[in-house]
Amino acid sequence: MSDDIPFDKSFDLPPGRPEEVMPGVRRLLCNNPGPFTFKGTVSYIVGRDRVAIIDPGPLDEAHAAALLDAVRGETVTHILVTHTHRDHSPGAARIKAATGASTYAEGPHRSARPLHIGETRPLDASGDCDFRPDVVLADGDTVSGNGWTLEAVATPGHTANHMAYALRGTDVLFSGDHVMAWSTPIVAPPDGAMSDYMASLDKLTRRAETLYLPGHGGAVRDAPRFVQSYIAHRRAREAAILRRLTAGEADIPTLVRAIYIGLDPRLTKAAGLSVLAHLEDLVARGKVATEGAPSIDGRYRLVVAV
Ligand SMILES: [Zn+2]
Repeated sequence: MSDDIPFDKSFDLPPGRPEEVMPGVRRLLCNNPGPFTFKGTVSYIVGRDRVAIIDPGPLDEAHAAALLDAVRGETVTHILVTHTHRDHSPGAARIKAATGASTYAEGPHRSARPLHIGETRPLDASGDCDFRPDVVLADGDTVSGNGWTLEAVATPGHTANHMAYALRGTDVLFSGDHVMAWSTPIVAPPDGAMSDYMASLDKLTRRAETLYLPGHGGAVRDAPRFVQSYIAHRRAREAAILRRLTAGEADIPTLVRAIYIGLDPRLTKAAGLSVLAHLEDLVARGKVATEGAPSIDGRYRLVVAV
């Protein structure tokens, strides 16, 4: 299913050791590997002497110490956050306390839509509800420091508050979890929304950056083509859901079994939520019907045009 995307899983950065990706951009890997984080969260340091840190990472003292060590003798002036998942934003408070830098992000953690009656957040543990940015950024806002300017690129979908950051005067976009070289991100309601996610991918196809530096794994090269393959992949998954539903009404576990072949069992729940994200979008577009609001326990059927 996913071999249509030219994934690149090569990424050999040892945790805790800063590496220069290009002049003026360093990266540092946190030692929090897992099925959603790949080798771990990648924090970026932008600039020299007076620097910005993008995504300080999870609550992880070893990582915070390594970040502060990497910028020893320099001044951290800005802390930017791509989104409020616990592997990206909680470290901001620690770095802020140590450096006095202000935090910048789209806003606090929130759902992409109101919760349905009786609905709980299935991935609640993944959200960092404590983070509040000092400075709220809107799409197109710029943040400038010593020799660098970052442009906020609103990219909701993985979370409602996801921001990518374009490094002005370069080919580089810090893409957070929106676009990654090693995998597609999970888009799980109610935090995530597939319609937003697809619109945010479309938005990137109209931008000029060619090299993405993501929140997990190595760089995305030839980014515009890579984004096109991401879009094609999601469209193919939507088509697979519709194809299965032509065979009759189905629930989400049935759809997951039909669509994800050879799925890592640790990702079954995430796959179900991803299918739910597609179904929400398909119900909103009038292509699929269900009883009440689309839910993880619902049964789904094709809407046949008459
Ligand atoms: Zn995330």
